[in-house]
Amino acid sequence: MQSQKTPSQLFSFEFYPPKSEEGAASLQIVHDKLAKLNPDFFSVTFGAGGSTRDKTFDAVIAIQAKGISAAPHLSCVASTKENIRAILKSYQDHGISKIVALRGDLPSGMMSAGEFRYANELVEFIRKETGDYFQIHVAAYPEMHPQAANSREDFKNFKRKVDAGANAAITQYFYNAEAYFYFVDACEKNGIDIPIIPGIMPITQYSQLFRFSEMCGADIPRWMRKRLECFGDDRQAIQAFGLDVVTELCQRLLDNGAPGLHFYTMNQAAPTLAIWENLKL
Ligand code: FAD
Repeated sequence: MQSQKTPSQLFSFEFYPPKSEEGAASLQIVHDKLAKLNPDFFSVTFGAGGSTRDKTFDAVIAIQAKGISAAPHLSCVASTKENIRAILKSYQDHGISKIVALRGDLPSGMMSAGEFRYANELVEFIRKETGDYFQIHVAAYPEMHPQAANSREDFKNFKRKVDAGANAAITQYFYNAEAYFYFVDACEKNGIDIPIIPGIMPITQYSQLFRFSEMCGADIPRWMRKRLECFGDDRQAIQAFGLDVVTELCQRLLDNGAPGLHFYTMNQAAPTLAIWENLKL
């Protein structure tokens, strides 16, 4: 296995905003461990419908104050232009210049879609309001977004976000490297030349990963499911298998030209650190 981090590669780590004081204290520790890897940025998720708006803001400001860039996620579903304008302004006022622009999903029970229907409209709005100030990342789905009519339409919709001014894309997590390579090929054929950064989900347990993957449309290949099922409650075995599989996936992606990696850390340092160490980055 070669050592391979190059200056042009982009590495980032995603957190969700802590819900309690203990969560915030533990995230500080996780942040400090991962900060030693010198990532390009940390990103912080945003609850659709603005449910974590203040918590996302607080987490982003705290991270940025410690010296490494922080990128807030911003979802537009159930939001008004006025809301989004105010959020953008507060980020600008605090020197935050990276943003992950999303549609988000309506929380159950919430009916109104608000003034934005899709993420391309949010990207357009950010560009209209703030010019080139923000470096905008958008979501990409190599295995297709679960609500898309079909994969061709989904790809066209992805291109709308790029045409609206996205600078880079982060993918939904996947365990089939081919889906990513095929997606990147399609981008090249369609004149899309922004970095498409693979989203990496470390595997630490099975039932939650399975549920989550069903919801977000990420495929866990059959052979992996069968192995994971066999491990039952043996957490150590699941983690060892997950570490092997995800390390190999990352290695393959980087060896074949992926422009970096974005880790869904789930606010834990150890699984990401173990993969990083295996990759000798
Ligand atoms: P869009 O790009 O708008 O796509 C949504 C669906 O609509 C797709 O099926 C697409 O094909 C279709 N579509 C898009 N544009 C059009 C159009 N113009 N006309 C017709 N159909 C269209 N969720 C959160 O709530 N908070 C987060 O912080 C968060 N972070 C994420 C980070 C990453 C990297 C990823 C990959 C996902 C994240 N999500 C987050 C989940 C995301 O919000 C959901 O997947 C959501 O369902 C779609 O958001 P999107 O920005 O991809 O939407």
